[in-house]
Amino acid sequence: MAEAVVIGAGIGGLTAAAALARRGWSVTVCERAPSIEPVGSGLAIAPNALRALDTIGVGDRVRELAALQGVAGVRRASGGWLSRTSVKAAQDRYGDPIVLLLRSTVVELLADLLPPGALRLDTAVQGVDAASGRVTTDAGELRADLVVAADGIRSSTRRALFPGHPEPVYSGVTSWRFVASSRGISGQALTGAESWGRGQVFGVMPLARDEVYCYATATVPAGQGHATPEEEKAELLRRFRGWHDPIPALVDRADPARVVRSDVFYMDTPLPAFHRGRVALLGDAAHSMTPNLGQGACQAIEDAVVLAHRVGEGGPVEDALAAYTRDRLPRTTPIVQRSASINRMTRWSNPLAVTARDAVVSLAGLAGPTAALRQADAVFNWWPPEN
Ligand SMILES: Cc1cc2nc3c(=O)[nH]c(=O)nc-3n(C[C@H](O)[C@H](O)[C@H](O)COP(=O)(O)OP(=O)(O)OC[C@H]3O[C@@H](n4cnc5c(N)ncnc54)[C@H](O)[C@@H]3O)c2cc1C
Repeated sequence: MAEAVVIGAGIGGLTAAAALARRGWSVTVCERAPSIEPVGSGLAIAPNALRALDTIGVGDRVRELAALQGVAGVRRASGGWLSRTSVKAAQDRYGDPIVLLLRSTVVELLADLLPPGALRLDTAVQGVDAASGRVTTDAGELRADLVVAADGIRSSTRRALFPGHPEPVYSGVTSWRFVASSRGISGQALTGAESWGRGQVFGVMPLARDEVYCYATATVPAGQGHATPEEEKAELLRRFRGWHDPIPALVDRADPARVVRSDVFYMDTPLPAFHRGRVALLGDAAHSMTPNLGQGACQAIEDAVVLAHRVGEGGPVEDALAAYTRDRLPRTTPIVQRSASINRMTRWSNPLAVTARDAVVSLAGLAGPTAALRQADAVFNWWPPEN
């Protein structure tokens, strides 16, 4: 049986392991952390990723968890709509909605697909030999026909395979994420929306079971996180207390211990390839992006199923990985760039620039719910390879 070693048990690594196991590969997933508990936040799974998840048998289980109903779109900090679409319009256009759910739910669904014993926690990979497929971990050595490096934005595998390639750059924004109870907040106020102010963004995304996923970004230099969770919450309150309902109430409800702050970095220089020898890079290790299109994990999921398809075609692994690069580099590069350009717009704080930006977004929105969606066609209209 062909052997694959997957480095990293994030959404990309778990999907790759599940997709490879489904095709008869023996998989070992090395995860340096002691558990696969992800940050406590929500995650948007778009139609393109739902179709990819169908190929490993969990698409419908994710669809069942869809909680977002009615309208969704982009608002001003004061609450007026800049651009509006609806869940129904997305369903009609793409055959699927965008599903919002807890990140931990996705991770659990994926981990359940792994063969028993495949996941090795507390196992850090220290080095990979791309030509032979030898993987050195702190618990000994492994030999693989295929190595999947899904080791995240700070991938040490990427650094070793592409020495000198520019590191991810700071996007100019820091982010906060938290999940709060939505009990008692009227359904109308709880519309799924991202609100744009001057250099700041706040997203409100209703989840199942009376919970709501909130995220925010602000334009500040990197490395300014606070020492305590209470201070992070206080900063959020200070920044967003004048925003439209229910934002101040939701921030007020946030459990400080569940507020996650992270500076947002991304790879503005694409790699020349997503493979070297027997090693494939995927997910954030290959093409980390800003979260503005909600596609980082979705693209990792796409990568994983395309990779499994390519190595499942038979032939030398090196040739399959060259085909994987040909499939994935042109797909992901424009998505990274588009996310970055939306990120740049959300950073504007000059009142004239913000007025002009809002006018352009609302003009596009005036053409109706389908027009607002059309801009996502290139991203959402993607189908996994057959077989
Ligand atoms: C604020 C914010 C909101 C976002 N929202 C969305 C969204 O709604 N939808 C979406 O699709 N994407 C979203 N993203 C992006 C998404 O979170 C990432 O793109 C995705 O989680 C990347 O998954 P990954 O598996 O590639 O990497 P990671 O999740 O980073 O996993 C890498 C894993 O590798 C492990 N690892 C690293 N080095 C080693 C080693 N040497 N040995 C063993 N293990 C190792 C790490 O411990 C980690 O578990 C968002 C990102 C941010 C910052």
